[in-house]
Amino acid sequence: MRHPQAQVIGISVAGRPLEVYQFGNGPVEKMIVAGIHGGYEWNTIVLADELIGYLGNHPEVVPLEQTLYILRALNPDGFARSRGFRGRANENNVDINRNFPSNWEAEWPRAGCWDYIPITGGKAAASEPETRALMAFIKAHDLQAFISYHSAALGIFPGGQPPDIGSLSLADALAAVSDYPYPPFDTGCSYTGQLVDWASDQGIPAVDIELTNHQDSDFEKNLAILSVFLDWFYSE
Ligand SMILES: [Zn+2]
Repeated sequence: MRHPQAQVIGISVAGRPLEVYQFGNGPVEKMIVAGIHGGYEWNTIVLADELIGYLGNHPEVVPLEQTLYILRALNPDGFARSRGFRGRANENNVDINRNFPSNWEAEWPRAGCWDYIPITGGKAAASEPETRALMAFIKAHDLQAFISYHSAALGIFPGGQPPDIGSLSLADALAAVSDYPYPPFDTGCSYTGQLVDWASDQGIPAVDIELTNHQDSDFEKNLAILSVFLDWFYSE
């Protein structure tokens, strides 16, 4: 097996590297991020590692004109801490997916939202090094499509509030080859500071995909999604 070299794009609060793997070298750039919710959603990191291994063995899967980036774990500190509720936040007890400068709030009504232990959106938008490292990487590239993996069970969420047309188009395409719920379940939670909403603000078609449960990587399912993701282009 070929081991592609990882690029370190930043360092977590506790000093762990944020690693991005690159496949292909073409001008059309796309990105997959896993592990924003750390050990609570550890199976997304397992999936990212499986996709990285697969693409290392099958580099021809990425079309010549494309570059695919995979960030395997945006919250490595939470991943190292716990495979449960306590693994969700970063080392500052911040939910990284509530820390992006899009509709940001330090606190939010917890009704309908994840609320197993108290965590915050941070002292300010983009207060966290993990958030800032990914924002800098995204701004330095010209991404044409973006997936952020979560678990579990709520489905596929297009980025933007309300969702932008490119993110809706991407969500439609990925939903067509999977059995993940789409439209996603509405738990009544009001979402603030989310990565895919910020990506949408930058004009990048973006979706959250929630795996089926908190254990399985859904590798085969997401291989089908990867194929459509690489074929997909937004055209107005
Ligand atoms: Zn999540």
